[in-house]
Amino acid sequence: MSARYTVLTGGVGGAKLVDGLYRILPPHSLTAIVNTGDDFRHYGLPVSPDIDTLLYTLSGRSNQTLGWGREGETWNFMAALTSLGGENWFNLGDGDLALHVLRGHALASGETLTSIIASFAAAWNLALTILPMTDDAVATFVDTDEGLLPFQRYFVERRCEPKLLSVQFDGAQAAAAAPGVVEAIMTSDAVLVAPSNPWLSVDPLLAIPTIRAALVATPAPVVAVSPLVGGTAVKGPTAKLMAELGLAITNDTIAEHYGSWLDALLIHGDDDAPAGAAHARTDTLMHTADDRICVARAALALAEGCSG
Ligand code: GDP
Repeated sequence: MSARYTVLTGGVGGAKLVDGLYRILPPHSLTAIVNTGDDFRHYGLPVSPDIDTLLYTLSGRSNQTLGWGREGETWNFMAALTSLGGENWFNLGDGDLALHVLRGHALASGETLTSIIASFAAAWNLALTILPMTDDAVATFVDTDEGLLPFQRYFVERRCEPKLLSVQFDGAQAAAAAPGVVEAIMTSDAVLVAPSNPWLSVDPLLAIPTIRAALVATPAPVVAVSPLVGGTAVKGPTAKLMAELGLAITNDTIAEHYGSWLDALLIHGDDDAPAGAAHARTDTLMHTADDRICVARAALALAEGCSG
């Protein structure tokens, strides 16, 4: 049987690694399992930020200027909404709306998120499997010095400014992994964890008991790419959050956080080496498509080294 690969990912940071893997692996050999803890309803529309980021990135539709959303986006809906007094803290572009409207319609008629995402990926001719971590409702909440906030209120509206005290994933304990998730982890030749925010984007997946158990049980090597570059996060709240939780901003902390199921960590340049985990070094900063390919190759080589 030909080799199969699985990657666990969040949004923007993680999508870069998935894009690198997608560019070098044979068609239909890659499964991406995506965080849905950030998903929420906005004006009744179901928004899946991390899944949609991946769809836009892999189909060449992502907005390079904004760093999120889709290319060539227009904002007539938001302008009309704002003129009517609607809340405008979360931007929904005119093109982006199509995904949320179609998703809402399909969910209302009884389709699962898994099958909806498969049809979006097929419509855009993507030759990989994109799976939500679950079809059940799991919602990330952040306890802060301003109180308990739903994830998007913290992340987008409050721009991660409140001091973070803890993170919780409502519904995760009782959630079932989406069809295909456990099988992908158990039967892959390598399982990769993208350089997504460990506490906000990877932990929701780990909070689903069958996903964590599969990572522990899989015979495949499990390799994570560290989100730290030059001792800090490339973007987003990872480093700020680690400091607020009283953690050292090091690869050692990342490896320890992931724990015993992690076989190795791919780290950047001459950043600190994790004490308790195997590691390899490369330049993990991904600006260009070539950078993404280099990091993907290094992660796969590290996994191969672990299984040898
Ligand atoms: P989010 O959904 O936008 O938060 O995206 P993710 O959670 O997937 O990724 C955020 C993390 O990605 C941050 O901690 C960044 O440090 C990391 N990240 C972003 N770009 C890069 C990159 O080019 N290289 C590495 N190693 N990490 C990156």
